[in-house]
This record gives sequence, structure tokens and C-alpha cells, in this order.
Amino acid sequence: MSAKYDIAVIGGGPGGYVAAIRAAQLGKKVVCIEKRGSLGGTCLNVGCIPSKALLHSSEKYEEVTESFAEHGIKVEKFKLDLKAMMARKDKVVSDLCNGIEFLFKKNKVDYVKGSAKFKDKQTLEVTVGKKKEIITADRIIIATGSEVTDVPGIKIDEKQIVSSTGALELSKVPKTMIVIGGGYIGLELGSVWRRLGAKVTVVEYMDRITPNMDKELGSTLMKILQKQGVEFKLGTKVMSAKTSDKGVILEIEPAAGGKKEKLNADVVLVSVGRKPYTEGLGLEAAGVELNDRGQIVTDKHFQTNIDSVFAIGDVTEGPMLAHKAEEEGVAVAEHLTGKYGHVNYGIIPSVAYTWPEVASVGASEEELKNAGIAYKVGKFPFMANSRARAVGETDGFVKILADKEKDRVLGVHIIGPDAGTLIAQAAAVMEFGASSEDIARTCHAHPTLNEAVKEAALAVDKRALHA
Ligand code: FAD
Repeated sequence: MSAKYDIAVIGGGPGGYVAAIRAAQLGKKVVCIEKRGSLGGTCLNVGCIPSKALLHSSEKYEEVTESFAEHGIKVEKFKLDLKAMMARKDKVVSDLCNGIEFLFKKNKVDYVKGSAKFKDKQTLEVTVGKKKEIITADRIIIATGSEVTDVPGIKIDEKQIVSSTGALELSKVPKTMIVIGGGYIGLELGSVWRRLGAKVTVVEYMDRITPNMDKELGSTLMKILQKQGVEFKLGTKVMSAKTSDKGVILEIEPAAGGKKEKLNADVVLVSVGRKPYTEGLGLEAAGVELNDRGQIVTDKHFQTNIDSVFAIGDVTEGPMLAHKAEEEGVAVAEHLTGKYGHVNYGIIPSVAYTWPEVASVGASEEELKNAGIAYKVGKFPFMANSRARAVGETDGFVKILADKEKDRVLGVHIIGPDAGTLIAQAAAVMEFGASSEDIARTCHAHPTLNEAVKEAALAVDKRALHA
């Protein structure tokens, strides 16, 4: 069997499925090939969505013990039903995955459940079950995403030594859990299992967690997580792991070298990052080149070194985030249909969905210092925000960095309740080139957490009203 399309998209994750829908909206004949058996990619199946479902459920569970009493709610008896919690997560995932199939039908995108491999720069061989199909297309978009990075000497078995995928499916709450890697994913999943009862220790090679985050937010987050009971071993490298029916023994030593130590845990979560995924794609047949990090290199229009082949999302350079992949999906589809697709890489928000959440957009203080850009800082604590007081979530602050002379907002960093939602107003005003004065002069509804953003903007000019 063979079929001919204007555009073939390999990978049905947030990059690929969005590119396919947008290209079809713009009148192209499009096919999306996905080998996982369901659409949505890493994000919907084993990433953003199941992790957020479990984060939310575990937050609710912890509220019963930690904050219900303060609100005057007495709960005499309660217990965790982990099976039901997992079933809820699975339903959220499958409903959303099916939703994308519906969107494909609505937008007339053909969906092939199979694994694609290049035969040449415009031809794919797709394995569907035991059959092979040939798909040709004028343009091919690679959106094959990423996979878990291993730690040398540690074998992931998805039972005792798990990746993020296994950590989303544990069948019982471990008494102890070690998280290798203090990045967003490790801290989020570590938070889930700590809230459900595990004693969690994070082992991080660097001398700080979340190394890409504004340093002040990273250290504040670490202090808050420590208060919640998470232990940290910074500047520490993991040498080996041994499993037995009693659990896992990790051998660790200081990153700079020194005395070895042993740590025990029921479950070890390996969470040191992700790497681009191009296995089995047959890139050599099309002549597509990779850089030394295994990423597909593209120009600003997402074109690879081959004129008919484009690439977007985690498999390319830049932050490995679902919304970055989606923006690129729209931009590449628009570019391929004669429009002006564009992604502003300077304004891509990033969020850690711990509690409190941490969200950033634009430059950090360290980046501004390194670039020699003079800036002003405005900060406002949630402790002084009336809504945060009313809901009892007062940890954290908003920090706005603005150009010293022109007052243009260069970066906004928030640690606090719903920071991931609050950051959207910062990203929107930054897209319009706003000054901190623009935020300060905008009427914000009262009482809302957003007022802390306005007050931080006032604080840039040293005139916060409520602190
Ligand atoms: P993917 O989503 O990885 O999709 C690629 C798809 O291509 C896969 O489904 C794969 O099966 C398919 N594929 C690969 N090769 C072939 C082939 N040869 N033929 C056919 N199909 C193929 N990001 C956020 O922005 N926010 C979050 O909160 C967040 N949380 C996360 C939590 C976890 C636990 C993890 C693991 C990731 C998280 N991410 C988050 C990252 C996010 O999931 C990725 O950035 C995003 O999924 C990348 O999208 P993509 O389309 O580039 O690739």
C-alpha cells in the first residue's frame, strides 16, 4: 500500500499533533504517524498530564492531614486508595489521548498507527503491525521527541529502579525513595510520593537544584521542600546501584571525589534529564544530520540540512517543554504554507509544579549579570498578599527584573501558589514589550494572587503599597 501527502508528520506528541492540525487547517493534505498506539506523545501518555494528575491527587491527600484542621474541618478516618488514584490518572490520560484522535478527524488529518523510517528524503516506510506501507510527502516533519537519559552503571528495571514512567505507576507507596537528579521532573515526582508517605532523598551532582532556574528561586524552593521533609544531598554523584528483594543500595561519593557512602531505598527514581530520540528513524537514508548531542539541527524555519525535511520539539535544540514543541508545531505548519510562523525563544515560560509552584519567564538575575545588562529588581512576598493569606498559602514571592534605564520587563520569577498560572500575564505583557510601570498601572482584581505581580511591579519603582 502507498499514499501521497503534502505533509507527513512523524510523532504524535505536542509538537507533531499540533503541526498536523495546523497544517490541515491551512489546507494541506496531512498524515501523522505515531508508533505508541495512542496520540499525545510523552506529554499526554507518560509526562505532563499523568504527573499533574498525580500531583493534584497527592496535594488533596496531604491537605487532609496538613491543612484541613486549620480550616475547621475534622476528618476522623481516611485512607489512601492508590489503585483508585492511579485509575483516575489513567482515565484523564486516555480521555485526552482520545480527544486528539477526535481533533484529527475534525481537521481531516490522517492518523497511521505505526513506526516510520526514512527510505529517502521524501519517502517513509511505515511498519503497521506486520505490514509495511509506503508514504511519500513533499515535506516531512520529524517530531519524535525524547527519551530518558540513563546514569552509567544503573539499570532501570521500572520496578525498584524506575524512570519517570515507572514512577507514575508504582503499585504501592515506597517507605523510602531516592531521586537521582534535582531537576523539575524529579522534584515533582518526589513530591507526589513524599505526600503519599515516602521518605524522599534527592541526590544531585551540582551544588544546587534546578540549575537553570533563577538562583534565588532555586534556593527558596529547596528550603521549602526541606521544610516539607525532603532531604537533599547536593554535590554528590551516584557510583552504582545494587538491587535485592530488600531494596536498592546506592553507592554515592562527593562530586569532587572523596569518601564513598551507601544509601538504601525501596525505590530509586532516575531523573537526570532526557535526550533526543531518533532511534530506528533511518535518518541516514534521508541524509539528515545530528549535532554531537544527538539533536537534529535546524535553521530558524525548522528546516534541517535536507530541503524537504523539517524538525521540531524535544528532538531539536532548546528547552524540552511541551509548549515549546507546540509553538514550533504551529510555526512550522505556517511556514510551510507561506505564512510567517515564528517562535520567540526569549519568552518561553517554564514551570515546576511542586507546591508551591515555581514559574519563570525571560532572563534570570544570573543571565542579566553575565550579559552585563543593568537591571532593577522589584519583589513582593505572598505573605503580604491578602488572597494568599485567605487561602493559607503564603510561601514565596514574585520578582520582576526590569531594564535599569528603559524599565522594560526582562524577566519575571514567581515562587508561590499557582505560580504556573500567574506567569501567563508576565509572558503576555513581555510579548508586548511592557515596562514594569505598565504592569503597575494595570488594574488587578482584588483579592487575587495576581495582585502580588502588580505589587512587585510597583516595588521595581520602590513604591509597593502593601509591603
Ligand atoms: P514527544 O511528546 O516525546 O512525542 C514524540 C512521539 O513520537 C512519541 O509519542 C513517540 O512514540 C513518537 N515516535 C518516535 N519515533 C517514531 C517513529 N519512528 N515513528 C512513529 N512515531 C515515533 N513539559 C512541559 O511543558 N510541562 C510539564 O509539566 C512537563 N512535565 C513532564 C513530566 C514528565 C514526567 C516528562 C517525562 C516530561 C514532561 N514534560 C513537560 C516534557 C514534555 O513531555 C515534552 O517536552 C514534550 O512531550 C515534547 O513533545 P514532542 O512532540 O517534541 O515529543
